[in-house]
Amino acid sequence: MKVAVLGGGISGLAAAYHLKKNNIDVTVFESTSSCGGSIKSKYINDFLIELGPNSMLLDSTSNKLINDINLENRLIKPLDKSKKRFIVKNKQLHSVPLSFSELFNTPLLSLKSKFHLLIEPLITKTKSSDATVADFIERRISAEMVDNIIDPVVKGIYAGDPNKLSVKYAYPKLWDFEQKYGSILIGMKKFYKERKSKGKHPKKNQYSFINGMQELPNALSNLLDDNIKTNIEIENIDSSTEWKLIYKSQNKTFQENFDSIIFALPAHKINSLPTNKNLDKQFKILDEIDYAPITVVALGFRREQITHPLDGFGMLIPSNENCSTLGSIFSSSLFTGRVPDNNILITTFIGGTNNPEIYKKSNTQLEELVLKDLKILLGVKGTPLITEIINWPNAIPQYNFGYGEILKEINNIEKNLSGIFFSGNYLNGVSVSNCIQSGINSAEKIITSFN
Ligand SMILES: Cc1cc2nc3c(=O)[nH]c(=O)nc-3n(C[C@H](O)[C@H](O)[C@H](O)COP(=O)(O)OP(=O)(O)OC[C@H]3O[C@@H](n4cnc5c(N)ncnc54)[C@H](O)[C@@H]3O)c2cc1C
Repeated sequence: MKVAVLGGGISGLAAAYHLKKNNIDVTVFESTSSCGGSIKSKYINDFLIELGPNSMLLDSTSNKLINDINLENRLIKPLDKSKKRFIVKNKQLHSVPLSFSELFNTPLLSLKSKFHLLIEPLITKTKSSDATVADFIERRISAEMVDNIIDPVVKGIYAGDPNKLSVKYAYPKLWDFEQKYGSILIGMKKFYKERKSKGKHPKKNQYSFINGMQELPNALSNLLDDNIKTNIEIENIDSSTEWKLIYKSQNKTFQENFDSIIFALPAHKINSLPTNKNLDKQFKILDEIDYAPITVVALGFRREQITHPLDGFGMLIPSNENCSTLGSIFSSSLFTGRVPDNNILITTFIGGTNNPEIYKKSNTQLEELVLKDLKILLGVKGTPLITEIINWPNAIPQYNFGYGEILKEINNIEKNLSGIFFSGNYLNGVSVSNCIQSGINSAEKIITSFN
């Protein structure tokens, strides 16, 4: 049994590692010079900068993988001071309500919305098969809840628009709570109670690694080593009795046959691969998945350049605040060892589906836009000590209204084309842990079909 994994992001690496562990001959084909995809950490003058994910929420699968590859002693917990999260209202930072009592006391919502929260369990459940996040929350609570809390939270995860995202696919738990219990509040209460009684997810926290998130793909790459080919260009994928992969590496063209191929590439890259006509037709559906662009602007300062205590994880900014930025992570408050003494690091996100052209601005313009927001919101003074900017034109897939149809078609391709599987952040969640699960799922399908 020979398997090709196209794409060496965390999804592809997790799939390949799982296959290798099960003694299956696997090769990862990565187009760039190293694996990791969106996960990129970088030191500049002793500032540890995350250009992609800043942390990951561990679940049982990612926890197991980290233990398996002996990376557990490299994990770092967030600092206690990062517990709070902020949302901006009228250019002021307010703590995100993290409990029911905080929700009823927050200045982010009016008395009217708080009353609607109280009566949320009385609202009848929808009969339709999907809803946008905005419609769902507005119906169950209020439009103000959407504008002041849901919109910035959605931007923090998807850089997306609650008026477009599907609640069923982007926030499946909320959808299930309504379907199962007729109420988000009751569902949440039951969920937390059940989880506590089962003692599940002891490490329910955002984690990173001592030298940043990239330690994870680096460790997997080291273990896979000979199973990885970097700097390759796929020239054709064809089928006869097996899957034939033609690829270029170091100016030479190679041809290899595989029993199975896992596509662990971003969805928008799959249909642009040179393939035979039958595959082209089937892969077209993947082009329908929208992606949000994100630009990451990391700025380092001396501590005295900032008025705000930065006593939290970071801040999220609702669209109605008319800021250029989506939000910032207070990186030096989140984990230890990120900056030299008496310095701070703020990582800001800009762009998203509502501002898709902004990444085309020059780095100087982007830095100016970020500094303008940070001055108003955090009291930043002067110029940064370091600046690092990266553009992700296709950063996060958007699980938009009606996403179920796309997932159904992807499932059909896997059923119709023997040996073809998909893995990635457009299938069952965008987080790093979701991608690990997605990679392992596709590897498991191959192992099952082989047995
Ligand atoms: C700015 C940003 C911040 C984020 N923050 C968080 C966070 O804090 N926490 C969290 O859990 N998640 C976060 N995410 C999401 C998470 O990082 C991603 O969803 C995840 O890393 C995607 O992994 P992947 O392997 O599916 O795809 P990718 O990382 O995109 O990997 C795909 C790989 O395929 C390769 N490739 C592309 N084309 C070809 C080709 N033709 N041939 C061969 N190889 C090819 C690419 O080079 C890449 O290595 C963030 C994402 C971004 C962009």
